Amino acid sequence: MADADGSTMPHSGRSSDLTGNQEGSPAAVLNTGLLERYAGPCPRYTSYPTADRFRALCANDSGTQPWDALNSVQALSLYVHIPFCRSLCYFCACNKVITQQYGLASSYLDHVLREAEWYRTRVARAPVVQLHLGGGTPTFLNDGDLRRLMFGLGDVFDLRSGDQVEYSIEADPRVLECETLETLRELGFNRLSLGIQDFNPSVQRAINRICSPEQVRLLTEAARQCGFGSISYDLIYGLPGQDVASLDKTLDTVLDLAPDRIALYHYAHLPDRFKAQRLINSDLMPPPSHKIAMQLAASQRLTGAGYVFLGMDHFARPDDALARAAEEKRLARNFQGYTLMPADALVGLGASAISYSRDGYWQNHHSNKEYAAAIQERGEAIARGWNLSDDDRLRQWLIMELMCHLRVSRSDIQARTGQPFEHAFAVELARLQPMFADGLLGLNNRDLYVTERGRWFLRNAAAAFDTYLHRPDQHARYSRVL
Ligand code: SF4
Repeated sequence: MADADGSTMPHSGRSSDLTGNQEGSPAAVLNTGLLERYAGPCPRYTSYPTADRFRALCANDSGTQPWDALNSVQALSLYVHIPFCRSLCYFCACNKVITQQYGLASSYLDHVLREAEWYRTRVARAPVVQLHLGGGTPTFLNDGDLRRLMFGLGDVFDLRSGDQVEYSIEADPRVLECETLETLRELGFNRLSLGIQDFNPSVQRAINRICSPEQVRLLTEAARQCGFGSISYDLIYGLPGQDVASLDKTLDTVLDLAPDRIALYHYAHLPDRFKAQRLINSDLMPPPSHKIAMQLAASQRLTGAGYVFLGMDHFARPDDALARAAEEKRLARNFQGYTLMPADALVGLGASAISYSRDGYWQNHHSNKEYAAAIQERGEAIARGWNLSDDDRLRQWLIMELMCHLRVSRSDIQARTGQPFEHAFAVELARLQPMFADGLLGLNNRDLYVTERGRWFLRNAAAAFDTYLHRPDQHARYSRVL
């Protein structure tokens, strides 16, 4: 879910434990002082540079565009944005179209498949190791159109099946039939992400997203039966009407259903920026201190139940492939968050979709109208992007190391820059001094590393290496860390 937040929290300068919990628990490693110092707005670093930096693209110094590098990829990732939803959730900050007219989705698919065609001669015949349908509501598509989409993609790209690939779909439990799960498995999907948010009926009413635990139970069991290897739930804290006790009750149900992965996102209430959020009664919004308490209590509950905290807002059962990959330092990160299947390039199809290669990023027009017009006119809909410089690549690698492997090796820095860490990144290390002082990061003879409590603040550590963020003219707005 996309969000942004321009607000800041006051810095009290004092630390106090919130709950006095056991050593090693989230509540014991975090405290209000830390949260107040580091929980403010910060990029999520699903890319570097972040997407808000993208500009109109010109060819780089060697006369090429970033997509020219697609002709030599070895492993490919695909993303398709399906922007349609049947009803409006009031917390939503996504790029979506609320409609009851199915015909819109059908003609949109024509454009997506035409866009795929544009890539036919530009992408090397590389296996698609990762595929994701996001939205909006991808399950807005009927089974016939899901088939049309996947067969169309399979005609252009080298789609694979089995455990060696990660094909996932974001599903709205309110708009998903058990029969569709079978169709999805048949089409090669092996990972399912269900948007739950909260089970409390009054919270659901406040956000206009009514969905019973029974519906979710039914779908979870059906998905397991038809062989989905991993089922993930998206939850949100900080929603209107939520408090620690109500969220805890939601977690009772969640833990009972035992999804393989859980994403616990923070809700950023920005009604000035997102029209849908104006429909939320702001009197129901929990104050920041309650949000922090919810975050702590929920994280403690999840780790107490045996989930592994991967970093940022992601948890996984210890037997899940993502948790094992984290243990074995094989995690990678892309626009959907953590992943197991690093690809050399991503082709994003549909309105607002982002693509990348080793040379840079490119993003499609945001609005459906502009997207459709561009596809009809020239077969692609690229609106902006970024050519990576050598310095961007270095920082991109370093940020990825920190966020996925929780450390950056001094010898790797020396090999890449020809200088010791302290010389190559003197300014950045100075910026990180407060994080060292607060025990969130450490620096030894071998590595810069993230401590146990530092895992909550990976975004802040990454931000110290973001050149563009520290320019005096930067005005971007980001969501809060917690
Ligand atoms: S289903 Fe998802 S994308 Fe659609 S309105 Fe609700 S939150 Fe937004």
